[in-house]
Amino acid sequence: TLGSDVEIEGDSEFQDAEEQLLGGLEIDSTEEIEVPDRLVDQVIGQDHARDVIKKAAKQRRHVMMIGSPGTGKSMLAKAMSQLLPREELQDVLVYHNPDDGNEPKVRTVPGGKGEQIVEAHKEEARKRNQMRTFLMWIIIAIVIGYSLIIAQQILLGILAAGVIYLAFRYSSRGSDSMIPNLLVNNASQKTAPFEDATGAHAGALLGDVRHDPFQSGGMETPSHDRVEPGAIHKANKGVLFVDEINTLDIRSQQKLMTAIQEGEFGITGQSERSSGAMVQTEPVPTDFIMIAAGNLDAMENMHPALRSRIKGYGYEVYMDDTIEDDAEMRRKYARFVAQEVENDGRLPHFTEEAVEELILEARRRAGRKGHLTLKFRDLGGLVRVAGDIARAEDKDRTTRADVLQAKRRSRSIEQQLADNYIERRKDYELTVNDGDVVGRVNGLAVMGEDSGIVLPVMAEVTPSQGPGQVIATGQLQEMAEEAVQNVSAIIKKFSDEDISEKDVHIQFVQAGEGGVDGDSASITVATAVISALENVPVEQNIAMTGSLSVRGDVLPVGGVTHKIEAAAKAGLDTVIIPEANTQDVMIEEEYEDMIEIIPVSHISEVLEVALAGEPEKDSLVDRLKSITGKALEHEVGR
Ligand code: ADP
Repeated sequence: TLGSDVEIEGDSEFQDAEEQLLGGLEIDSTEEIEVPDRLVDQVIGQDHARDVIKKAAKQRRHVMMIGSPGTGKSMLAKAMSQLLPREELQDVLVYHNPDDGNEPKVRTVPGGKGEQIVEAHKEEARKRNQMRTFLMWIIIAIVIGYSLIIAQQILLGILAAGVIYLAFRYSSRGSDSMIPNLLVNNASQKTAPFEDATGAHAGALLGDVRHDPFQSGGMETPSHDRVEPGAIHKANKGVLFVDEINTLDIRSQQKLMTAIQEGEFGITGQSERSSGAMVQTEPVPTDFIMIAAGNLDAMENMHPALRSRIKGYGYEVYMDDTIEDDAEMRRKYARFVAQEVENDGRLPHFTEEAVEELILEARRRAGRKGHLTLKFRDLGGLVRVAGDIARAEDKDRTTRADVLQAKRRSRSIEQQLADNYIERRKDYELTVNDGDVVGRVNGLAVMGEDSGIVLPVMAEVTPSQGPGQVIATGQLQEMAEEAVQNVSAIIKKFSDEDISEKDVHIQFVQAGEGGVDGDSASITVATAVISALENVPVEQNIAMTGSLSVRGDVLPVGGVTHKIEAAAKAGLDTVIIPEANTQDVMIEEEYEDMIEIIPVSHISEVLEVALAGEPEKDSLVDRLKSITGKALEHEVGR
């Protein structure tokens, strides 16, 4: 069968590494696999992006990463921070400005020094306070002594002592303001900083000055103490990572650009009505490397000046979604499982068979023959769910059965919706899966990214008053028109019926719930129209997907694996797919016996398989073959 090339090989000893799922790796479990220390060495695939990161780290250039979520963008950004020199790190201190309390001073010192300076200031303040306290008690003693012995006024003495006490306490507050605020502390930083500012609000990104409810009267907190760093300041000498860069509001993007240009950015209160907004510090260093990430769309919508800034002074890289499946790569996928297990810290290591199952899943998810998916976040999710299942049962290894169960459990929302949908349709008998009907064809569509649904199409042809029209339900008008147009060129040649004088009604049964990708339904529409026009019934145990050219060729479409699985789940027993898609078929074992897959390359083959009612059908197919000059090269056996 078509899916057979993804079966687990039996006896691996006699196969060479290229054929084995683990690429020749011989392990009992992932515990035996060594995980590299450096993050950059843990990255799998993305060779180009990794090279760029290494180069950009050396040259201190900004990088723009474009690609799908979960393919390693933030991982690479973090890896870059580990490649930057630690020696250059700086601590930043904010000091009270005696000339203008609302304009705190900023000083930069080598990393680790900041703590020492603050300590020294505190020590000094402590000493000063001790001294003052000592002095205070002496004065109090003298005053009380004086009033007792000489003036003989006890009450006055105690009163005077109280006033002196309060005066000292009050004035000692001032000495706290001598202690600087350690805004950025790199003392315990083992690598250059990595700051993820994805989705950060203005304060978190650009720094903020807290509001002070007591703005005077000795209760206030000095302004320099209320200053808080933003990601751009904490990322100084390191990496600032911003994913989905376009979701950052334009003002923030502008300020981000200023910080990049100037290499420093003063901090002010972000909420306009707070007392913090009156404070504006001296410039604070923001000498970071920016890694902006997002999908293509995000790039187009980001602030153009910021984009050209990064582009002009750095690199742009695309992340791959899949990678070629070879023995070496599969060994790396085994290491990926080990990495995820180690990083999580609580999951039981995976057995050999469990890893093999994961590699099969990576193949399936690639949706492309000879490739593995690089969407590692999702794959990592599967590793964790499987590991959790094993852990819940107190097993010391995660097994293949756990992975299989995890796969069932971690279905995407779309998959769950699609399954739910299939169930409901079964209840209402909307999916017809036997007999034959004129003008009705079971089409297939993809919902979300990874789930298919059966989508019946009904066509009816009626004589038209004026020029013929194509009338479709919903927003599918355009695609229906196109499909009918394509098929009408063919129909004109072989049929006595003139379709341009007819109205063609096309209904997508319950299409509202799933997105219908127009192109992939065009052989479905064509078949329905021909069936209606010629009054030849269509087999209802068949589903189909494929795009149609004006010449009648069936062209490849996306999502065939999910579509085939949907057809099998709906109880259909045959599915027609474009010949060119056969290599993309990677259906799960459990469906292999449930459904027959028939690859076709021409509409005449579709009709040959899908139409019922022998004599009419045969003459129709014959006519079609003769006019398109395309003889069936191979017997379409059923
Ligand atoms: P992105 O930033 O592209 O959305 P992440 O870098 O946050 O994706 O990836 C999420 C997780 O998936 C990582 O922490 C890592 O465990 C795993 N991962 C992603 N890409 C890779 C890769 N290329 N190699 C190894 N692991 C990866």
